Amino acid sequence: MKIYLNGDLVDKEMAMVSVFDHGLLYGDGVFEGIRLYDGCVFKLDEHLERLEYSAKAILLELPMSRQQFADAVCETCRENKLSNGYVRLVVTRGVGHLGLTPDGCGPPSVIIIADEIQLYPEELYEKGLKIISVPTRRINASALPPAVKSLNYLNNILAKIEAKKVGFQEALMLNDKGEIAECTGDNVFVLSKGVLYTPPLDAGSLRGITRGAVMDIAVELGIPCREQALTRYDLWTAEECFLTGTAAEVIPCVEVDHRKVGSGEPGQTTRDFIAKFRKNVREDGMKL
Ligand code: PMP
Repeated sequence: MKIYLNGDLVDKEMAMVSVFDHGLLYGDGVFEGIRLYDGCVFKLDEHLERLEYSAKAILLELPMSRQQFADAVCETCRENKLSNGYVRLVVTRGVGHLGLTPDGCGPPSVIIIADEIQLYPEELYEKGLKIISVPTRRINASALPPAVKSLNYLNNILAKIEAKKVGFQEALMLNDKGEIAECTGDNVFVLSKGVLYTPPLDAGSLRGITRGAVMDIAVELGIPCREQALTRYDLWTAEECFLTGTAAEVIPCVEVDHRKVGSGEPGQTTRDFIAKFRKNVREDGMKL
């Protein structure tokens, strides 16, 4: 496997960054997770735009243009003869001193890893996922805007650990008002009386690219979709629920906090969204 590292494609074993890189020392950096379907990179421009916004928000000057990033992503996939997979694009603050300050750090390190991915078994897309709300809250937007996809995932990691320790694969994270924010790596949607709801970004959700794709599908399917603050009660009493994310795609959620969602089986609307999403990802996207 070849890894893109600062302009070169190097063997996996040789792809190394310094222990003084602030991405490692402080989680000081930004990243994107991108999917490749049948030789097409899905929503590459949207991912690169989000990377630019994340970098701008943390005052990290990206060392490459959007076109250069796009070319590097495609080149890394081609070099690895990948036509279906997952691309992890990471930009760190770069090598610096031990102190927190980014002064004197750099240039930023650019890492692109293109590999295969299978987050959940196909069976879970048929049967649905069971999730549980956990004590660890999503970071307050005034501490770190949730729209910034930074290398700091510790609170999501803690939430994931809490869910796993009690036998669940995914955690439902709340904000400090007790509203639904998102899952550890996925956005949340519920269907109630024919209307699709998802938490607004200021509730602590990432502006998910899959979330956006699902909102577009809602328009295509003629299903009203609203961004609205949601509580756990809204999930417990919803007719259907599903999660969205680049790695998970659209996955049904059939149990929240030991309460069945609807009948306890993936609903028809969720199935329609999964089918449409799977069709769209193979039709849209940038050819390698
Ligand atoms: N929320 C978080 C915290 C995430 O890390 C992700 C990405 N895995 C998502 C939501 C979903 O975003 P996207 O659809 O862009 O992958």
